[in-house]
Amino acid sequence: MAQAAPRVVVVGGGFAGASAARALKREDPRLAVALIEPNAHYTACPLSNAVIAGLRDMKAQHFGYAGLEREGIVHVPQAAARVEAERREVILADGTPIGYDRLIVAPGIELRFDALPGYDAAAVELLPHAWKAGEQTLLLRRQLEAMEDGGLVVISVPANPFRCPPGPYERASLIANYLQRHKPRSKVLILDRKDAFSKQRLFEAGWTALYPGMIEWVGESSGGGVTEVDAATRTLRTEFGEHRAAVANVIPPQRAGAIAAVAGIADATGWCPVDPVTFESRLVPNIHVIGDAAIGGAMPKSAFTANAQAKVCAGAVVALLRGEKPGEPKLINTCYSLLAPDYGISIAGVYSPRDDLLAEVEGAGGTSPLDAPPAVRAEEAVYGEAWFDTITAEAFG
Ligand code: FAD
Repeated sequence: MAQAAPRVVVVGGGFAGASAARALKREDPRLAVALIEPNAHYTACPLSNAVIAGLRDMKAQHFGYAGLEREGIVHVPQAAARVEAERREVILADGTPIGYDRLIVAPGIELRFDALPGYDAAAVELLPHAWKAGEQTLLLRRQLEAMEDGGLVVISVPANPFRCPPGPYERASLIANYLQRHKPRSKVLILDRKDAFSKQRLFEAGWTALYPGMIEWVGESSGGGVTEVDAATRTLRTEFGEHRAAVANVIPPQRAGAIAAVAGIADATGWCPVDPVTFESRLVPNIHVIGDAAIGGAMPKSAFTANAQAKVCAGAVVALLRGEKPGEPKLINTCYSLLAPDYGISIAGVYSPRDDLLAEVEGAGGTSPLDAPPAVRAEEAVYGEAWFDTITAEAFG
């Protein structure tokens, strides 16, 4: 009698989960692959800062799951409520159990509402985070449109690790781009919980060239760390004083998506420690974690990373199901940031397992040159959009 096909269940249909489901089916078409994702369509964060700046339509951020279903992946339109690891079952929100041989969990992030006094689930309606793309993105956009010329936009940035390390600075740039065009007496103030940030010299050079005097960045040791917010008055307090904003974008500290804690795969940091070769959880066997929820080394939390980890993890899962040893992976990440429609910069890194973590391969990565001419910046803006088209086609197309 023919053996039943091994079952792999994927929780979360974002860049990580959708890419993993696809890679599994392509590596071994016999596998029964189910993707548990409550939403009918996915809203992508990359390029959502351009939506906030009025440079891009929100519809361009939406992707469905029909492409995956055409390849034989079963989309289960519900949330996973818990995992019975001993029985190898995921329990859906309506109580239905789904059995698995291997489980891949890719729930992205949860915003922490216990980490910044005054910033809770109600405060997000007044001080949007816009760190999960969707209604929050549009709310921040509407607040900028409603703001009077001369207003102060404050962006509060958390300590590492968090989703998309260059994202807040891209956002500051594109908000300045909008203000320059429509409200040129306004300013952007970035209050930061750290003293250095991704692509810092490139961003600062871009701000001087594109938006002189419009963007101010205050690092942790100069009083940038926000300690409390008052949503009603849009006031952000730091150890050095307080700032009253016309529009405040509070990006709070984060942790792995809620199901991670419920499933027992998140540690005390709130993130999920994983093996750097297979992405198997260090806490619960037969469960793999990829994308923003995973932690285990130097890879930044990006859609590029999520997609790269998905492919490596799928290969490892297929090997493990066949009783084979997964190969040692090398993973790449590249993050493009847009400072203006025709001004892009990038950072790239290569990562491989070392001392049980994913470590950066020395000398393999780098950033755009600091002294590049405008033509190169314009080309990088085009590459950034092309990257988005490629990765969304690969994950969802
Ligand atoms: P997500 O994309 O968040 O997907 C998680 C999915 O899991 C969601 O669809 C969710 O509904 C689902 N889910 C959660 N819980 C459950 C559950 N219990 N059951 C079922 N499903 C569940 N990255 C780049 O590479 N380049 C960029 O230019 C870039 N720009 C960015 C700009 C901004 C403003 C932001 C905020 C992020 C940006 N990123 C960028 C980062 C990128 O969006 C994330 O790193 C990426 O989305 C992570 O993918 P993920 O699949 O791990 O999580």
